[in-house]
Amino acid sequence: MTTTEADPLAAFADEARAFLDAHAERRSTDAVIWGKGEDHTGYFSEDPPEVEQALVDQARAWQRTRYENGFGWITGPESYGGRELSGVHDLVYDQIEAEYDVPDTGVLSLIGLGMIGPTILAHGRDEVRDRYLPAMFRGEVIACQLFSEPGAGSDLAGVQTRASRTEDGWVLRGQKVWTSVAQHAQIGMALCRTDPDAPKHKGITAFLVDLSLPGVEVRPLRQMSGGAEFNEVFLTDVHVPDDHRLGEVNGGWRVALTTLMNERASVGNEASTGVARVLSDGFLAALLHESGHGEDAAARRRLAEITADLTAAEYLNRATIRRLRSGAQPGPEASVSKLLWAQNLTRIAHLAAELVGPRLTADTGEWGTFSWNELLLSAPAFRILGGTEEIMKNILGERVLGLPKEPS
Ligand SMILES: Cc1cc2nc3c(=O)[nH]c(=O)nc-3n(C[C@H](O)[C@H](O)[C@H](O)COP(=O)(O)OP(=O)(O)OC[C@H]3O[C@@H](n4cnc5c(N)ncnc54)[C@H](O)[C@@H]3O)c2cc1C
Repeated sequence: MTTTEADPLAAFADEARAFLDAHAERRSTDAVIWGKGEDHTGYFSEDPPEVEQALVDQARAWQRTRYENGFGWITGPESYGGRELSGVHDLVYDQIEAEYDVPDTGVLSLIGLGMIGPTILAHGRDEVRDRYLPAMFRGEVIACQLFSEPGAGSDLAGVQTRASRTEDGWVLRGQKVWTSVAQHAQIGMALCRTDPDAPKHKGITAFLVDLSLPGVEVRPLRQMSGGAEFNEVFLTDVHVPDDHRLGEVNGGWRVALTTLMNERASVGNEASTGVARVLSDGFLAALLHESGHGEDAAARRRLAEITADLTAAEYLNRATIRRLRSGAQPGPEASVSKLLWAQNLTRIAHLAAELVGPRLTADTGEWGTFSWNELLLSAPAFRILGGTEEIMKNILGERVLGLPKEPS
């Protein structure tokens, strides 16, 4: 019996390690040494545009390398360059890759590959799937999510951007807001009102919009944490061909649900493996000792609680991803993951702020102190993005606890 027949997953893990050994360095497993190296602890980018652009280029290049070596879309259809392997393979790959020092591909993966890609696959026409899916998973096309509007966030079905029929397609007119990564994106998935007289969930259609079209204007919004990672997007008489429609006319709400469920899972997955874990295990633990609280039972207890909750989130996420990627519909557990992600990051920020004390308020150049400022100032955004905490709790109240539905 060959290794592959004996344990296909072990053979896949060996293949992944061989690929990573050939293309990347192993990440240092040394604990954070106070005062040494980068002390960036923030979540959003604060980099100047040229640095941010260089990081985006590195992300694209690394995604291309993954794709060319069979790791760009592990669960995707072979016809689009995927491997048609299971979600478990995907998880195994992510865990092995986390051992290596590779570029952060979040600009491509969190929204585009994690949310819009699966939506195009589920609801796009062949022309659109052929044109965009391989290009997205090769790292050439970045996608953004044009959902929220000044008057439609939690109540997303209230979108007012209009799409009107023309002979060969549609004309889009309206404004989107809070659009993450639009400044780097080539396409966006827009929800538009196509029947103003229908009940609000039934008059929406989804489109894929080429952001280089005339009439599209992307304006950055600066966040209080310093960076400008999301944008206003103005759509002024943008002509979109009908083959760029996703799903049925007036069937956009169903299409949006595919995206939103993948969003909660995508954000929630970060709860355990992403920034939060790195911060709590590394910087926060080091800060505890450095700030003289190494023997402080109350502070140690808080760190232990955060670590335990991150581990619980990790196991919940593994189960969710396994279900999602084997074709199951996401359930309310994606909302629990989103809640945990925001709460854990916020608790890390608050504990760090207490340990750092007044040094958080002014940059004295002291390593590992003022740098926590960005995370603390970003905490309100964690509770909002990907669906607010109140909305997640409503979903859990209705779908898990069986409480009466919100009046619509
Ligand atoms: C960092 C960040 C990135 C984002 N990226 C994107 C993106 O890429 N694309 C995109 O389309 N959008 C994006 N958003 C927007 C985000 O999805 C919305 O901000 C969010 O859905 C909330 O909508 P809103 O801001 O209009 O607030 P509102 O919906 O007006 O809510 C205001 C307050 O009222 C509460 N509330 C509203 N309705 C209810 C209810 N029924 N029951 C109880 N409480 C309620 C909310 O919880 C909130 O506290 C992003 C937001 C952030 C912070």
